[in-house]
Formats: sequence, C-alpha cells, structure tokens
Amino acid sequence: MIRENVQKLLAELPPGVLLVAAAKGRSPQEILEAIEAGVQIIGENYVQEAERAFAVIGRRAQWHMVGHLQKNKAKKAVAIFDMIETLDSVHLAHELEKHCARMNKVMPVLIEINSGREPQKSGVFPEDAEALIRTVAPLPHLKVVGLMTMGPRFGNPEEARPYFRETKSLFDYLRTLNIPNVEMQYLSMGMSNTYKIALEEGANIVRIGTKIFGERPEE
Ligand SMILES: *Cc1c(COP(=O)(O)O)cnc(C)c1O
Repeated sequence: MIRENVQKLLAELPPGVLLVAAAKGRSPQEILEAIEAGVQIIGENYVQEAERAFAVIGRRAQWHMVGHLQKNKAKKAVAIFDMIETLDSVHLAHELEKHCARMNKVMPVLIEINSGREPQKSGVFPEDAEALIRTVAPLPHLKVVGLMTMGPRFGNPEEARPYFRETKSLFDYLRTLNIPNVEMQYLSMGMSNTYKIALEEGANIVRIGTKIFGERPEE
C-alpha cells in the first residue's frame, strides 16, 4: 500500500512541490518502502526516533525535523537533519548555531509560525516572525529559507484555509524585506487532510503521514 500511496501522491503534486513523508511512529522498514517508491525527504518529530531510523537508512533520503526541537537535542539534531522546519526561538537558534559551527555545517531552517495563536502550541505568532528572523539572519551557520505552519486541527479541512492564507501573506511580506542571508523560498503547510487546500494557498512543501503510511496505531 505504501508504494501505491506514494506514487499516487507524487503524480498528483504540482512540479516544484516537495513531499515530506511524516514518519512518526513508523518503522525503518516502512520508511524504506516509501523511499523505494520515490520519497526523497523524511520528516521526523523526535530526535531519538530519527536517530533509530537514520541508523538504518542514512543518507538514502534527506531528513527534516518537523517536531518541536528541545535545546538539549540540538547537537544530535544537527548531526542528522538537512533542514530544521521548526525554529521558533532565539535560544534554540543560538544552540543550533553553536553546534553547526563546530560541525562546520550551514543548516537551512524554516521559522515555525503558530498561525492559530494557540497557547499550547509551538511556533512564533505571525507578528513576531520578523523580529526572530532579523535575529537569526546574521548567524553564519543558519540560513532562514522560509516558513512552516501546522495550523489548528479541524474536522473540516476547509477551516484551515484562513491560517494557511495568513501564513502565505506573511511569507510574501517577509520576502519583500530582502533581509541579507534570508531566502524566502519554502512554505511548508498541509498534512494528509489539508494538503490540497495548503497547495491552493501557496505551499511548496507538504508533510504527509497517514496518506502514505496509513492510520497511526495510537490514534
Ligand atoms: C504527523 C505530522 C504531519 C502529518 O500528519 P498526517 O495527518 O498523518 O498526514 C505533518 N506535520 C507534522 C509536524 C506532523 O507532526
């Protein structure tokens, strides 16, 4: 099933849109099946789980951190990930900068936007994104390349649209600023039930789990 699901998605996504296979709770074997079907980017929510999958899969795919990253995991994260999609604080930025400098690596990062302004969720509020980006921009081993948002979860995916739309307009505004060392290239929005709406609203990275791997057992 994984193979068919991936092939169907890849055929459906417009050119230039990146598919991230959201792999939380999946075995390395399931992830490998997705890679063999054409997935090129794996999204992980937890560093420890990523390490286990990475030990088996290595650089046969790219690795994106899509979950909240704790500062004490920054060192391990820098060793594995090709992109951190969830940068949301100055503290985390400095921690990542330190470890990237030691490893002589420039890390592409997306700023996570809490577009629903939900207090329990990670990400910065839209109005705080510019200040964070201006602080991160001068760090030589981090490169801001866009924005990511989850948005609130609704039964009806259409209700996610205003949050995607607001994040896209923030993305466009930030691009007009032409901040040195910042390249507003990627907009990561949309999951299994919302990616079509996210694409209509301008996403060029979609993060899809269930529609590739099936329902998660714990849900
Ligand atoms: C789980 C997850 C996804 C994918 O969710 P599905 O509904 O399974 O497609 C996307 N992004 C993040 C950050 C996730 O944690």
